[in-house]
Formats: sequence, C-alpha cells, structure tokens
Amino acid sequence: MHKEIPLVIATGNPGKVLEIEDLLYGFPIQIKSLSDFGPIPETEEDGETFEENAYKKASFTAKILGIPALADDSGLMVDALAGEPGVRSARYAGSNATDQQRVAKLLNAMQGQTNRKAAFECVISIAVPSGPALTYEARCEGLIAEAPAGNKGFGYDPIFFYPSLNKTFGQMTLAEKRDVSHRGKALNELRQEMDKVLIWIRRHMPSEEKFLYQLNSEE
Ligand code: IMP
Repeated sequence: MHKEIPLVIATGNPGKVLEIEDLLYGFPIQIKSLSDFGPIPETEEDGETFEENAYKKASFTAKILGIPALADDSGLMVDALAGEPGVRSARYAGSNATDQQRVAKLLNAMQGQTNRKAAFECVISIAVPSGPALTYEARCEGLIAEAPAGNKGFGYDPIFFYPSLNKTFGQMTLAEKRDVSHRGKALNELRQEMDKVLIWIRRHMPSEEKFLYQLNSEE
C-alpha cells in the first residue's frame, strides 16, 4: 500500500489555492500550501509565456522544499488590447495594486471598444525536486463585461462574462466555474491522468526524499 504523496501548491493566491484544492480532492495526495512552510524566496515571474512561469514556480518550489510542487500560471488575453494583459495580468496595474484597481484599469482601456472578446489561459506545471515536470494547459473564451458583476472568485472574475451561462465568473459558484474555467479544464485533464501522474512522481523522487515523506506521513 502506497503512502500519500505530498504536493505543495506553489501559489500565494488564496483564490487559486481554493480552486486547486477543490479539484484535487479524493486522491492519495497530501496537499500542502506555502503557508505550511517557513517563508521561502519568491520566484521571479519574468518568463515570456505562461508555461515558462508555471515551470519556474513549480520547479523552484520543489527544489527548495524537497517535495513535488504544483504551480499555476494564468492570465487574461483581450483581443482588442492585442492580447494584453496576458502574462502580465497580475501586475497589470503595478505590483502592489488590488484586484479592483486591475479591473478598473482594464475597463478603462476597453471604453468604447465593440470587440469585447477575451480568453483566460492557464498552464499547470507539476515538478519534482530534481527538475522534470509535467504540463497541462487550457483556455476559456468569453467577453469583457461593460461593468463588474458578482463578488465571487478573484482577479478579473467580475468582468469576465461567459455567454452560455449568461453570467460573469464573479457570479458563478465554485462548482460552476470549475466546470467551464481555464483552470478547471486544465485540472480536469490532470485528474483524468492522476494514476499515471502519481506513478511518475514516485519514480522521480530520489530515495532519500521518498523516505523522508514516508516518515512525515506516518506522524
Ligand atoms: P499569476 O498566474 O500568479 O501570474 O497571476 C495571474 C493573474 O491573472 C491573477 O492575479 C488574476 O489577476 C488573473 N487570473 C488568473 N486566473 C484567473 C481567474 O480564474 N479569474 C480571474 N482572474 C484570474
């Protein structure tokens, strides 16, 4: 009988943690968050693509903590803004801005635009401490609303309108968003392959670390 595999969710964004934990429920995984550990240096998210940033965050965290790590890099691409804010979604209104400030800046940039098409993209990377990683990615298309609606979710959710449910992500329950969102779809692909992923992780953990986490899971 295998022990649970520890997996740290390498993000400080509580909205993402909630969605990721929800989708990984029920597997022999011991989910940990960064707050279970002491402070660790932040990963510089200076990659040109979501994939690059997701891999950087996952591999850096796995290496530092010595256990497998899962990271998500995601963002909103707006057609009329030539794909902006894209990989810069979190820093769109400056590094210390709030979600409301980012939303306000985007709505301002979209004033008078008739093409409201946009898409969220998400790349999930699962890395082991020695470096190798698995990648899952997905996309969700929608429209930028004229004004915020709903107070659920996080980030740009209140202005991302999803036509077939006739509501914004900010008006959706966690379960509704999970079924259609970029993160939900990427994590669902991961869930479908979870048996193989767990075998892959076990194979790539050095024996000393395997031993360590077995000890921990017996505590
Ligand atoms: P990062 O992946 O930590 O670089 O940040 C991605 C940023 O994109 C977040 O801070 C949000 O502003 C935005 N974002 C990513 N996924 C979502 C989502 O599901 N809803 C709303 N905003 C999102």
